[in-house]
Amino acid sequence: MTKFSPQPGIMEIDLYVGGKSALAGHAEVLKLSSNENPLGPPPSAIAAMQEAAPRAHLYPSTDHAALRHAIAEAHDLDPERIICGVGSDEVLQFVTQAYAGPGDEIIHTEHGFSMYPILTHMAGATPVRVPEKDRVVDVDAILAAVTERTRIVLLTNPGNPTGTRLSDAELTRLADGLPGDVILVIDSAYAEYAEGYDGGKSLAETRDNILMTRTFSKIYGLGGLRLGWGYGPRGMIEVMTRIRQPFNLSVLHLAAGEVAARDQDWVSHCAALNADQRARLTGALRQLGIACDDSDTNFVLARFADETQAIAADTALQSEGIIVRRVGGYGFPEGLRITVGDEAQTGRVIAALTRWREGMA
Ligand SMILES: *Cc1c(COP(=O)(O)O)cnc(C)c1O
Repeated sequence: MTKFSPQPGIMEIDLYVGGKSALAGHAEVLKLSSNENPLGPPPSAIAAMQEAAPRAHLYPSTDHAALRHAIAEAHDLDPERIICGVGSDEVLQFVTQAYAGPGDEIIHTEHGFSMYPILTHMAGATPVRVPEKDRVVDVDAILAAVTERTRIVLLTNPGNPTGTRLSDAELTRLADGLPGDVILVIDSAYAEYAEGYDGGKSLAETRDNILMTRTFSKIYGLGGLRLGWGYGPRGMIEVMTRIRQPFNLSVLHLAAGEVAARDQDWVSHCAALNADQRARLTGALRQLGIACDDSDTNFVLARFADETQAIAADTALQSEGIIVRRVGGYGFPEGLRITVGDEAQTGRVIAALTRWREGMA
C-alpha cells in the first residue's frame, strides 16, 4: 500500500514524447523533427546572452517589464496585458491551472498539440477531444462540445501537426459562438509563418475571454532557451501572475528575449526563407505522389498511402541520417511531419524521398 496518493489527474498523464535527435550509426544527423529554426538563434540574442552572463549571480526582474515593453512595441500591444513564461507551455499551464480544476472540462481538437491533455490533467480537469474535418479545425464541432462544465478551449492556429489554419472569419465565428465565461486560448506558436495572420491579436483586443499565446521557440530560433508569452485581458493576466513564480525567467531569458523581440529583420528573414523552402518541399512531395496540405507553418505534414508506407519512408530517411516526426500519436499513422529546413537541408530531404520512391518502382 502506498502512503502517498497523487492529486487527481496526475496518473492519467502520458509523458510527452519529444522529437528524436540521434540515430545509431550517424554522427551527424539532420534533425527535422521538432520544428526548430534551421538558422539557429538570432546573432543579436546570442550576443545579448553573452553580455548578460556575468550578471548571472544577480536575481532577475520579477515583473519582466523591459521584456514586456519590447514585445508590446514589436506587436503594438498593451504591455500590461502581457505575461511571460518558460516557453508558451508555461503560459498554457498558467491558464489551465488558474481557471480549471476537478469536474471542469477543457476542449481541444482531434489533432491538437499533445501538451493539451497533459496540461488539462495537470490541472485535475477533464480533456474533451473534438473531431476535426479533413485536417482542419471544425468550429461547429467545438461549439457542439461545449457544456456547462467547459472552462477553456485550447486551439492551435495554425495547427500542429496539420499545418492548416482557420480563416479569420471562422476564428471570429468560434469566438462569437462560445459562451462569455469560456476562455478561448489561441495558441499561435506558428503565427509568423502564416501570411496575413495576426495571431489572434484583433480578437484579443476586442473580447474579454481570449488569451493569445506566442513563443520565441520557433521563428525566433530560441527553443532551447524556453521563452514564451501570452496576451489577454488585464484581469486574466493579474490572476495568472499570482501563480507565476516570481523568478520564472532567468537573466538570460530576459536579455535574449528583449533583443530578439526587437529584431524584426530576423523574423522577416526567417519567414522568407521558410516560405521559399516550404513551397519547394510541398511541390516536390506532390510530384512524388505524396499528399500534403498547404502549410501555414514551418513544417509540412506528408501523408503516405498507409502506415506501412510512412514507416518505410521514415526508415529510408533515417538511413540517410534524416530525422522527421512520426505522428501516429496525433491521429496520423500514415503521416510524417517534416520541418522545413534551409535550402541544402530541404534538398537532402527531397533527394532521399526521391531515391526511396525510385527504389519502389
Ligand atoms: C512548438 C509549439 C509551442 C511552443 O511551445 P514553447 O513552450 O513555447 O516552446 C506551442 N504550441 C504548439 C502547438 C507548438 O507546436
